[in-house]
Amino acid sequence: MKELQERILKEGKVLEGNVLKVDGFLNHRMDPALMHRIGEEFAKAFQYENIDCILTIESSGIAPALCTGLAMGVPVIFAKKGKSANTDKDVYVSTVHSYTKNKDYEVTVSREYLLTVNRVLLIDDFLANGEAMNGLLNICKQAGVTVTGIGIVIEKGFQPGGRKLREAGYKVISLAKIGSMDHGIVFEESV
Ligand code: 5GP
Repeated sequence: MKELQERILKEGKVLEGNVLKVDGFLNHRMDPALMHRIGEEFAKAFQYENIDCILTIESSGIAPALCTGLAMGVPVIFAKKGKSANTDKDVYVSTVHSYTKNKDYEVTVSREYLLTVNRVLLIDDFLANGEAMNGLLNICKQAGVTVTGIGIVIEKGFQPGGRKLREAGYKVISLAKIGSMDHGIVFEESV
């Protein structure tokens, strides 16, 4: 997505540990018009997958997921971070290792919201090692829900998450795929 690549080049800052900071339009301040077009791109990419729900993780996945849900006309669930006050009977739980904070945390999704879901699309802001996606995939497995695709706003292609998910057979679409950030940001081909 050319517009997204241009924003990354204009505003993105490469931090230590291969972290790309895009707080100006994605992770802190959000650009609703850009987010709207991101939702439309994902809706187009997954239009034939018969998706009946979108699943993401709070907090930075919510905006692109919501815009995609609006474009596709399906509800959006976000996995909540931290221990749930509900019992295991009420929620699915999965452990995720945070790339940016380098620690493990739990995510939970209420069982009742996945009861009527058959075909889900996973959305997130970034894909690095694939830990966040694995956490969501684990929840979908527990719930017996089919994952029909994975939509990522920014994939860091030099990290292994995307390759592993594609090798596992998932349709992974990233709107901007970064090939390297060593000497300036270089993109690989993306949507
Ligand atoms: P993964 O779980 O694939 O290793 O990392 C993806 C998750 O970590 C995303 O949910 C995102 O919040 C965070 N993340 C990973 N890499 C970056 C990055 O370079 N920049 C930002 N802002 N977040 C990242």
